[in-house]
Amino acid sequence: MEIAIIKGDITKIPVDAIVNAANTSLLGGGGVDGAIHQAGGLSILEDCQKIRNKQGGCQVGEAVITTAGHLPAKFVIHTVGPVWNNGKSNEETLLATAYLNSLRLAVENEIESISFPNISTGIYKFPKEKAAEIAIRTVKEFLKTNDKITKVIFVCFDEGNFIIYNDLLTKIKI
Ligand code: ADP
Repeated sequence: MEIAIIKGDITKIPVDAIVNAANTSLLGGGGVDGAIHQAGGLSILEDCQKIRNKQGGCQVGEAVITTAGHLPAKFVIHTVGPVWNNGKSNEETLLATAYLNSLRLAVENEIESISFPNISTGIYKFPKEKAAEIAIRTVKEFLKTNDKITKVIFVCFDEGNFIIYNDLLTKIKI
């Protein structure tokens, strides 16, 4: 089992499943969500529409799965991280739940390699260091009891997150 940290664009890195930091509407947005829909093409949005018709979208902390369209992946797992509200709205638990539900959905779909963006740390303003700690801890704890996923990649788009992840990856012991 391997946890890797890469600096770059998540739409360019081949894996079984790319996780999207979506919003509750599943209709696409800015940031990594926009980049994924742009690079993956309309089939992703069409799958998202079908999910909307069935269950009205995706709640914070939940995850849903679609095709990956033109992306170098089999699936996109869309999860919704919390908007940071000064830590007063259960944000830390909700962020951990978003990672956990993405990993569970990956296992259900026999996904072996999965890449995560730094969920909630862009437009949703979650403090980067706190978010990285939650991401790394949640993934490490999950991998301890699940051997179906063999590779997790944290894709950092900005230098700040890249430095934080590299610093924390070995420090966080489970
Ligand atoms: P959120 O609304 O969850 O904060 P954002 O997309 O605004 O989502 O930001 C989440 C993270 O994704 C940020 O750290 C941002 O730098 C990063 N990001 C933006 N574009 C890309 C991309 N193409 N690949 C990987 N990460 C990206």
